[in-house]
Amino acid sequence: MTTTQIIEEPLPELQLWDAIVIGGSAAGLSAALTLGRAHRSVLVIDQQRPRNRFADHMHGVLGLEGVAPAELVRRGREEAALYGAKFLFAEVTDVADSTDEEQPGLRIMLEDGRTILTRAVIAAGGLTDHLPAVPGLAERWGKQRRRRRADSGHAAAAAGPRRRRRILPCSPSPRRGNQHHSG
Ligand SMILES: Cc1cc2nc3c(=O)[nH]c(=O)nc-3n(C[C@H](O)[C@H](O)[C@H](O)COP(=O)(O)OP(=O)(O)OC[C@H]3O[C@@H](n4cnc5c(N)ncnc54)[C@H](O)[C@@H]3O)c2cc1C
Repeated sequence: MTTTQIIEEPLPELQLWDAIVIGGSAAGLSAALTLGRAHRSVLVIDQQRPRNRFADHMHGVLGLEGVAPAELVRRGREEAALYGAKFLFAEVTDVADSTDEEQPGLRIMLEDGRTILTRAVIAAGGLTDHLPAVPGLAERWGKQRRRRRADSGHAAAAAGPRRRRRILPCSPSPRRGNQHHSG
């Protein structure tokens, strides 16, 4: 495995990327890996705030059951970097058509005023969770714990099969005489 290539500062002027991926988490890194394998020059611009950054472990992600979310990102960067993807940790503030007729494409604006040119953009910025003002919820967001009424489905889903049975009773109860019958 190579180490992740963070692009050198300052950015090279007038370089036209084949694709810029906005967001460098699961979706963005998958796109970068695929583009890199297709021999496209690709720059991933990432603010480094993946949605599941509050969780210690992932569940239900094939091949990565129980692995930390940051590990998925680390591996994803390494795999995409194997195919030439580059990474820039910054915030994209705007995307606009290029005004340069000689160099059509898209202009990506960064929060520090820099502009990068690209032929295509992939928006993989994910979601931002806005939590309701329930006391204690923000501190517990993404943590495994016994579910109370205020907990989200994520905590339940992340709790695994044993706890899920307790939290979300979805199978028939034999005590009530419910049975599954096949045929
Ligand atoms: C608490 C919690 C626990 C979860 N647990 C699980 C789980 O166990 N298993 C599971 O399958 N799913 C889980 N999920 C869902 C999972 O987090 C998302 O499905 C996944 O993160 C989506 O990946 P993404 O790449 O689309 O977006 P994100 O992971 O949100 O990544 C988007 C990236 O884009 C960056 N970005 C956004 N805007 C800009 C911008 N303008 N400029 C530059 N960068 C930008 C962000 O900083 C971030 O790094 C959980 C979610 C939460 C909230």
